[in-house]
Amino acid sequence: MTPPPATWPRRRGTCPGVLAPMEVGDGLLLRVRVPAGILPAGHARYIAELGDRYGNGLIDLSHRGNLQLRGIAAEGLEAVTDALRAMGYVSADAASEAVRNVLCSPTAGLDSTAPMDVRGVARTLDARLAEDGALHRLPPKFGWLVCGGGIGHLADSSTDVRFDAVDDVRFRLSLGGTLATAVPLGLCRAADVADIASALGRAFLELRSTMPEPPRRMAGLVAAIGIEGIERLSAQIFPPPPSSRTKLRFVLTRQADLRPAESGGGSGWRQAPHLMDLFGAAEPPHPSLLPGGEKGLAPALPVAFPFGRLSAATLAALATACVEIRITPWRALILVAPSADAEAVARTHGAILSHTDRRLKLTACSGIGGCDVGTTDTHATALAIADRAGPLLDAVRMVHVSGCAKGCAHPAIADVTLTARDGRYDVALNAEPGDDSSHTGLSPADAVACVADLLTEESSGA
Ligand code: SF4
Repeated sequence: MTPPPATWPRRRGTCPGVLAPMEVGDGLLLRVRVPAGILPAGHARYIAELGDRYGNGLIDLSHRGNLQLRGIAAEGLEAVTDALRAMGYVSADAASEAVRNVLCSPTAGLDSTAPMDVRGVARTLDARLAEDGALHRLPPKFGWLVCGGGIGHLADSSTDVRFDAVDDVRFRLSLGGTLATAVPLGLCRAADVADIASALGRAFLELRSTMPEPPRRMAGLVAAIGIEGIERLSAQIFPPPPSSRTKLRFVLTRQADLRPAESGGGSGWRQAPHLMDLFGAAEPPHPSLLPGGEKGLAPALPVAFPFGRLSAATLAALATACVEIRITPWRALILVAPSADAEAVARTHGAILSHTDRRLKLTACSGIGGCDVGTTDTHATALAIADRAGPLLDAVRMVHVSGCAKGCAHPAIADVTLTARDGRYDVALNAEPGDDSSHTGLSPADAVACVADLLTEESSGA
């Protein structure tokens, strides 16, 4: 057997990769970074086979639009790595793999209402990050986003550097946040995205190196350097001569002057929850999936999974029912050019096919079996709550079942939060994991009943 890579195992809190597997409760976790989130059906079938043969057959969809193979045995690592490399999903080394954190709007090229088809730009950026050794010193979670707008827009995804299409040739470049909160830097052409990203990454590293407490994310740098620093940064990224500025049509003014007119300006940005948009375009019973559908989507079927987890068998089955799979950051896949029986196949495998499915309201970490800290089956508890509470969940935005107070799946307030401790749960409303609760030390069954009781009280206004 080949010795494990020098970077294995990764520490919790860092980012796993194929060349930097992370040891978790059920074995090695491999994050497969899929350029532009586009997975040909043949690759999906092969990846499913790898997960089944060398892992525990569980696959997670990450919030960064990647696949994660779980439970890979150390003895199978070399075979899995070789197979993924042959498909083009592995970089030269762990450092070049780790920086390939590019999120691409998952309906790129499928949605005629989107200002730009950004698949090529996202792939070019992914390749540049891997090639450009100077950028390999970027912090592990540093991320990029390329959004073409339209129904699969990424307006609400927060990242370090975002390129949001404003028309068919230009992007709005902004730093550190969502479309609404990121600080605009200017406009750039699609053809310049990789060069600008390279310059920006270098500038980030240079600036942070001068600070006593170097920020690890772009939002921290922006806060530290202020508007004057942003102006200097823009001059560095978009240098003279003036002709180049004219070419880029770059304008740097105060932040307010670069507020995205495109938010409501008819270039495809939408504010509704993403899955509702996706499913809404496909219901009922998905007329827009037909060629030339009114809503502008090419034939495609969105399918979501509770907790973003599916089995290798499910991935293999879905891959036989389409020609390509898009990985979204919303715990869902998009089947491109689905076969006539694709919906039936997805339903058979327990997929979520409607935005009204209450399982979409459930959030849970791996819990016992997937994390060595977990002491409860968080997924089973969450699904039991959906069963027991039924329509009571309609007024709830999120039920979070956390395996411990760390709250990996959602380290923030949820309407209902269960925090596990030594095999039992504390239950609280409008709370973060670990917050004080008056319902503590409940068995999983009692916790489920407690949630139903609390929601009944809430709904009756008691
Ligand atoms: S919240 Fe706790 S139990 Fe769940 S994955 Fe994180 S560390 Fe593990």
